[in-house]
Amino acid sequence: MFKSMNLGDNQSQKTEPAGEVEKVKCLIIGSGPAGYTAAIYAARANLSPVMYEGLQPGGQLTTTTEVENFPGYPEGITGPVMMEDLKAQAKRFGTDVRWGLATKAELDGPPHRITIDNKKVIEADTVIIATGAEAKYLGLEDEKKYAGSGVSACATCDGFFYRGKDVAVVGGGDTAAEEALYLAGLCKTVYMIVRRDELRASKVMQERVFNTKNIVVLWKHQTKALFGDGVVEGATLWKNKDEAHEEEVKIKIDGFFLAIGHKPNSDIFKDYLKTDDVGYIHTIGNSSRTDAEGVFACGDVMDSTYRQAVTAAGSGCKAAIDAERYLSEKNS
Ligand code: FAD
Ligand code: NAP
Repeated sequence: MFKSMNLGDNQSQKTEPAGEVEKVKCLIIGSGPAGYTAAIYAARANLSPVMYEGLQPGGQLTTTTEVENFPGYPEGITGPVMMEDLKAQAKRFGTDVRWGLATKAELDGPPHRITIDNKKVIEADTVIIATGAEAKYLGLEDEKKYAGSGVSACATCDGFFYRGKDVAVVGGGDTAAEEALYLAGLCKTVYMIVRRDELRASKVMQERVFNTKNIVVLWKHQTKALFGDGVVEGATLWKNKDEAHEEEVKIKIDGFFLAIGHKPNSDIFKDYLKTDDVGYIHTIGNSSRTDAEGVFACGDVMDSTYRQAVTAAGSGCKAAIDAERYLSEKNS
């Protein structure tokens, strides 16, 4: 489950003074599971990694309470505490963790030039991009009001909390179909709130949805509001919005899952790196290498498929190993 929480033992971290150019062997951008795992491996390989945390120190998991599927925590763990553990482990081996946002990237090196907070410039022999992705929301006030109390953007993460209950999934693409099918295995009824009279999802996914008895597709419905006493108890929907026969309907649900797409945080790298149409960074083969020499990508910013903490951590490990091998081959 998710709730906004503050990750922060940042007392000892200072924002860098303006105007300097600093040379580093390995720069890690982003402090989620991918960034911290890359940092642990890079630090232990003597790459003296410098990490900039960005606007969300600890990444997406700092917005959740219980994480029950990360290996090694048999009783589960809260997202903020887990990220504190990863941070402590990265610092233990000497990672230099700093506040700051990468605001510009010139990846035509090496060395590559990354500007932090529009001021300081870092010249890095290797860059590990671990900037994650964000789920898109509808923009309703109620999504914030019930964050942690019934609103989620991750069925794999939170579906378990809604076993035997009624839930809704918003969206009609492959992600929504996948989330609905996953939830159908756990929940009593899954409503799919679809704004058009057809799904965008692939035919095979559509068939699976239509063949699943406890998924009810609400065609041409859009969400107006959520209601409930402290937690989500239902949603008010428009049916046939802006048409002559527009009407309002209410459904009783305990969980409201957004599945209208994700946005990877790759904008500042796009001029130099290949991405797909949505913005996920392309990596070469089974590696974390991007199309720019000495630049590696890991975690949700390059993974449109899995988007889990453990897969992000695994790819962070790959990025640090790839960076280390790249530097040793270059220097041999
Ligand atoms: P993120 O965690 O997204 O971290 C990205 C980092 O990059 C952040 O620190 C951010 O500040 C930084 N950043 C971004 N742009 C810049 C920049 N320009 N300069 C510097 N830094 C930058 N997964 C599970 O496995 N189990 C769960 O139970 C689970 N629950 C979840 C609950 C919620 C509410 C959400 C939203 C996600 C959940 N997930 C869960 C998914 C999981 O959080 C992500 O898959 C994982 O965090 C991705 O890790 P990451 O390191 O790639 O990126
Ligand atoms: P997507 O294909 O862009 O679909 C987004 C869905 O959300 C669409 O149905 C869209 O409606 C709806 N939507 C968007 N904004 C909305 C809003 N404000 N209100 C209500 N509905 C809204 O995104 P995705 O499903 O995340 O998929 C992204 C890519 O990953 C796709 O290429 C997909 O094929 C791929 N993917 C593949 C698989 C798989 O193969 N198993 C699984 C997941 C994702 P409209 O249709 O009306 O625009």
